[in-house]
Amino acid sequence: MTPVSTDQNAGDTSQREGVALDGCNTLGFSARARALSEPHTVEAARAQVLASRQAGERLVVIGGGSNLVLLPWLDAHVMRPAFDEVTITPAEDGLTATVCVEAGKRWHALVMELAAAGWWGYENLALIPGCCGAAPIQNIGAYGVELADHLLRLEVMSLEDGSCRWMNREECGFGYRDSIFKGALEHRVLITRLELQVSRQASPRLGYGDLAQRVSAALPQGEEVTPLQVAQAVIATRSEKLPDPAQLGNAGSFFKNPQLPQAEAQALLTRFPSLPHYPQADGSIKLAAGWLIDQCGLKGARRGHVGVHAQQALVLVHFGEGAVTELLALAQEVREAVHTRFGVWLEQEPRELGMMPEG
Ligand SMILES: Cc1cc2nc3c(=O)[nH]c(=O)nc-3n(C[C@H](O)[C@H](O)[C@H](O)COP(=O)(O)OP(=O)(O)OC[C@H]3O[C@@H](n4cnc5c(N)ncnc54)[C@H](O)[C@@H]3O)c2cc1C
Repeated sequence: MTPVSTDQNAGDTSQREGVALDGCNTLGFSARARALSEPHTVEAARAQVLASRQAGERLVVIGGGSNLVLLPWLDAHVMRPAFDEVTITPAEDGLTATVCVEAGKRWHALVMELAAAGWWGYENLALIPGCCGAAPIQNIGAYGVELADHLLRLEVMSLEDGSCRWMNREECGFGYRDSIFKGALEHRVLITRLELQVSRQASPRLGYGDLAQRVSAALPQGEEVTPLQVAQAVIATRSEKLPDPAQLGNAGSFFKNPQLPQAEAQALLTRFPSLPHYPQADGSIKLAAGWLIDQCGLKGARRGHVGVHAQQALVLVHFGEGAVTELLALAQEVREAVHTRFGVWLEQEPRELGMMPEG
């Protein structure tokens, strides 16, 4: 394990120096925690769980920090899993394979390795930042595919006592950007590894955006599409629309697309016929939150060091040198504007961690 740093004043809450969480969130706000460690094996992670329990300190897991709003002080020991092995075991007939991937592996790197090796399944989820261990938390999804679609099971370690157990897909309670890890098991387990199923059978999902045009434009005549070509089309589309966190602080979509009961959604659609909407299997209707924000005249709005992205109204951005309070105030302004105009409260997607300084 790499103990990155430890707060020398861990027992004294009046002295909040701690360690900087630089690089722990893609929004780029400054934050500090009591201590930070990066275990390189599951065993080392268990040792940290037991040590934290012994010390009576709270333990919080952070991956790539791309779905987090970090407040200035996190009164906890932060653990960032650094174990990242990948094992691909093909079935006897060679048509499918089971992929076992550890928590610290970068999601995009895994997607590209699988796509380059000709395995279908997750090519539509290329370029989503963050680590594999965090992917189940909000059941990451894009372009008609979700993590849950091909997840067989995952292993969790209790942050109470370090014990491990496997959970199948049903136990994970997956929904739209949701899972049991945002509910009953929130901050209670470390997801250590995932088991996914991938396939040799071509199953391109090109129904979203301009994926179909991009793929056919890049495909030599007479050749069949590969998962790598689909991943490359997804990367090209996303790169045009979404800001790169390395260039401009952001946490991807800041709000979920609201899902309304049919009658409520129909009433809105009568008033706003051009509102983009997507009927769901359960009868509800998903509305495009970005369109709602855009209609409030907030796309491209800037408030001090933060703003609403000029190309994608769902994304709030940090231009640098700002405070997280500016971002939270802007988020509230957006939510109130959308509620006033459409009667819909938007729900924040990234989770808040930590607290504001007292006084
Ligand atoms: C530019 C951009 C584009 C994005 N596009 C998409 C998209 O298309 N679709 C989508 O679904 N999301 C998207 N996201 C959001 C984000 O990338 C995903 O939610 C990603 O899975 C977060 O991974 P992370 O490692 O950064 O998690 P973090 O932000 O580090 O953590 C998120 C939460 O998960 C918990 N956590 C992290 N790792 C573990 C673990 N191993 N065990 C238990 N709990 C853990 C943390 O405590 C925290 O509560 C985007 C973000 C950005 C910045």
